[in-house]
Amino acid sequence: MEAVLVLNADLGPLHRVSVRHAVRMLLRQVAEIHEAEPDRIIGVYPMPRVVRLVRYIVTKWRYSKGPGWSRSGVVHRDGRRCAYCSAAGTTVDHILPRSRGGRNTWSNTVAACYGCNQRKGNRTPAEAGMVLRFEPTVPTWAALTPAARR
Ligand SMILES: [Zn+2]
Repeated sequence: MEAVLVLNADLGPLHRVSVRHAVRMLLRQVAEIHEAEPDRIIGVYPMPRVVRLVRYIVTKWRYSKGPGWSRSGVVHRDGRRCAYCSAAGTTVDHILPRSRGGRNTWSNTVAACYGCNQRKGNRTPAEAGMVLRFEPTVPTWAALTPAARR
């Protein structure tokens, strides 16, 4: 078992890499030795057991999972515009209404103006004869950062 554990800069474990890979990370100075084998040397380094990244990286699973759902996130994602009529959208509409099993998910919710939300009521857009201007999707983390909210 020569695998080396890689820690994020905040000491959160990320994954395991080969010793060779770990040494390359040390050479490139993207990682530092966090824990080494007591009496073993590899090249100029103590044999690493655990290395720690110099800079914090945002892990991939965060991207693939996407940000958690929130009402304000939905309104922000949709540019504060109603998904049906593009008027100012301040409420959140459930495409499949909650009373009929619709969930709080990015793909089931859109920003809507008060009028459209009332008009749609307990119906799907098709039943209400209303057309979504776009297909709602999971926003990126970047799109929900405080800077992007301005
Ligand atoms: Zn509207």
